[in-house]
Amino acid sequence: MKSKIFNLKFLIAIFIIVAILTVAIVLLVINSQTANFVEVSVNGKIVETISLDVDKTVEINCENGYNIINIKNHKICVIEADCFGHDCVLMGYQNKVGQTIVCLPHKMVIELKRK
Ligand SMILES: [Zn+2]
Repeated sequence: MKSKIFNLKFLIAIFIIVAILTVAIVLLVINSQTANFVEVSVNGKIVETISLDVDKTVEINCENGYNIINIKNHKICVIEADCFGHDCVLMGYQNKVGQTIVCLPHKMVIELKRK
């Protein structure tokens, strides 16, 4: 009788572990999806939608400066900007869905997406 209860608890424990692992794997797969386009917004307004399939360089003009975006090998990066601190440039190349490159001084946000 005692061992049956133990077995039930054991099974529930296994079930919970499997459920947690499944959720973790699903989240990992979703998070590791590579993006294929980006939406660039300035001041909350989308100013550019750029595909990551073609290598190119785009200049984004903001109210108080500029950001030069580079797309290379399906990845995106801000390669040049005249903002204070250059946080956006320091973020480097990104290519995962959900990632963002933000330039706070210019109120510019690059959102990586997939369609
Ligand atoms: Zn910046």
